[in-house]
Amino acid sequence: MKPAPQTPSPADADARKAIAPVICYPLDTLPLPVMDLYKKAREALEKVEEVLVQPRDANTFNVPAGHFFRIISMDGPQVGDLNLWAKDDLTERFYSGKTRALHGTHLGVGDRMWSSFPYLRPMATITHDTLDWYGFDEFGGSVHDVIGTRCDPYTGHLLSGDDYHFCCHSNLIRALAAETGLSSDQAEPHVHDVLNVFMCTGFTKDTHQYFMKASPVRPGDFLEFFAEIDLLGALSACPGGDCSSEHSSDTVACYPLKVEILRPEKGTLDGWIPPGPSSYCRSHGL
Ligand SMILES: [Zn+2]
Repeated sequence: MKPAPQTPSPADADARKAIAPVICYPLDTLPLPVMDLYKKAREALEKVEEVLVQPRDANTFNVPAGHFFRIISMDGPQVGDLNLWAKDDLTERFYSGKTRALHGTHLGVGDRMWSSFPYLRPMATITHDTLDWYGFDEFGGSVHDVIGTRCDPYTGHLLSGDDYHFCCHSNLIRALAAETGLSSDQAEPHVHDVLNVFMCTGFTKDTHQYFMKASPVRPGDFLEFFAEIDLLGALSACPGGDCSSEHSSDTVACYPLKVEILRPEKGTLDGWIPPGPSSYCRSHGL
């Protein structure tokens, strides 16, 4: 937030503030996903696996490159916190901040989840969103943000003094530890900022603070992705439920989420090439 200024405005303050902004990362040169091919491939998908995520808990899932996966709302409005790693290398993981810099605060169809340095390649591309009708509301809110981090016990403790163990951060640690055999101490550094699936968020117009409001998601809604590389995913069913009031507690109603792994028919992806890691030379000027 910006407190009341203590510094007098300079004479040319209005002129400086009137300068029009430019987009930090224009997308004209960004390699585009082959959406026509994905559209064709998703016409006939065979479900090969289904993973249930219990309320206030998380679960992992594996998606081979060239498969699709869907995160599906089941019994009631529920927000999901999604982490992605390269299947065989936990150091390559979803990079929420760079994804935000490239695609904006909230993701939609055609946007991609980019991986961390030095890889910086698309891990997954969003191919369908049953909440795409929502757009932005009058408060500036929208769904599927990459601005929040994930609810966690440290911030909860900082603000309330309580120790709560079923925040998304802890849920993701338990799920990753169970999947990999790592201890919780070893698993924790691999848990990262999430894609907030179905969560409705924005920044207030006056103070520009991060806000949340009841998710518009309803049972049957889903967000669908195409796996660009072999993926290990973890999804937490946030203790905030639909995130209309609070999180980091057992107070609100929470519902399960489902992840489906879907295989396209043979031949439908002919011509698609999995993206390689960034080809930057990595000399860094040395
Ligand atoms: Zn959460």
